[in-house]
Amino acid sequence: EPVSFTALDTLRRAGVSVAALVTEHPRHQARPARALDARLRHGVPLLTDATVVELVGRGRLSGVALRHRDGRTAHVACDTVVFTGDFVPDHELARRAGLLLDPGTRGPAVDGAFRTDGRGVFAVGNVLHAAEPARAVAREGTLAAEAVRRYLSDGDWPSASVRLRVTAPLAWIAPNRLTPDDPTGAFTLRTTEFVARPTLVITQDGRILHRTRPRSPAVPNRPFRVAGEWTGRVDTEGGAVRIALG
Ligand SMILES: Cc1cc2nc3c(=O)[nH]c(=O)nc-3n(C[C@H](O)[C@H](O)[C@H](O)COP(=O)(O)OP(=O)(O)OC[C@H]3O[C@@H](n4cnc5c(N)ncnc54)[C@H](O)[C@@H]3O)c2cc1C
Repeated sequence: EPVSFTALDTLRRAGVSVAALVTEHPRHQARPARALDARLRHGVPLLTDATVVELVGRGRLSGVALRHRDGRTAHVACDTVVFTGDFVPDHELARRAGLLLDPGTRGPAVDGAFRTDGRGVFAVGNVLHAAEPARAVAREGTLAAEAVRRYLSDGDWPSASVRLRVTAPLAWIAPNRLTPDDPTGAFTLRTTEFVARPTLVITQDGRILHRTRPRSPAVPNRPFRVAGEWTGRVDTEGGAVRIALG
């Protein structure tokens, strides 16, 4: 996944010899040029469809046991393992405050104005979802700031919202609730599987609200986005809005 290549570069600069990159997915999820650079120029093998199932060693690490998707196992000698990817939000404070969490992101559930279900509590960035590029998080901050300003001037807080629910292989969407006065921002999604030409279908109570073909493929551990032009068609008294790959 993308951050692993940064970790690889950092380790190599520190003089560490990297035994292998391991991913449970059938191929890397980095942008091709970077991945190719890391593999070909530095000669680090990329082991795909493989999972680290055991850390081996007594007193200190001597290697890892790998299991391939087809059941084969292997041992790779090493003294350090660096885990990246599968990031989870920094949600401890939100949990302790008893805020409603979204089952997909595992961060606080928020509407399009980044309002949680706790009056006056907004959430953006790493507290809300797994690591997103900083520029995307800055955009969330800008939208939230406008909503904070509004709240400070009128004190209004929504009492109800419509849930957004994703269907596998989609893992999560954020924001993941809708309220009538939401700004029409963009939604960020994650997939657990590669889909080369995804079609996104958004429905509510069996009614199609929006169908779109994002320009980029859906790749695990990388965001893809859908604009929010369909949100005006949501019945705010209706059932959950469902987002699926068609
Ligand atoms: C390994 C990794 C590599 C990344 N690389 C890139 C990259 O190359 N380019 C890019 O654009 N983005 C990258 N990102 C994403 C980037 O880090 C985020 O987009 C950005 O940091 C989000 O900003 P934030 O303010 O929401 O959260 P953070 O930067 O995480 O700031 C939150 C702060 O709150 C503090 N905090 C948390 N809980 C508590 C608490 N209970 N009490 C007090 N303080 C608390 C934390 O210590 C932290 O300082 C990367 C993320 C990761 C995890």
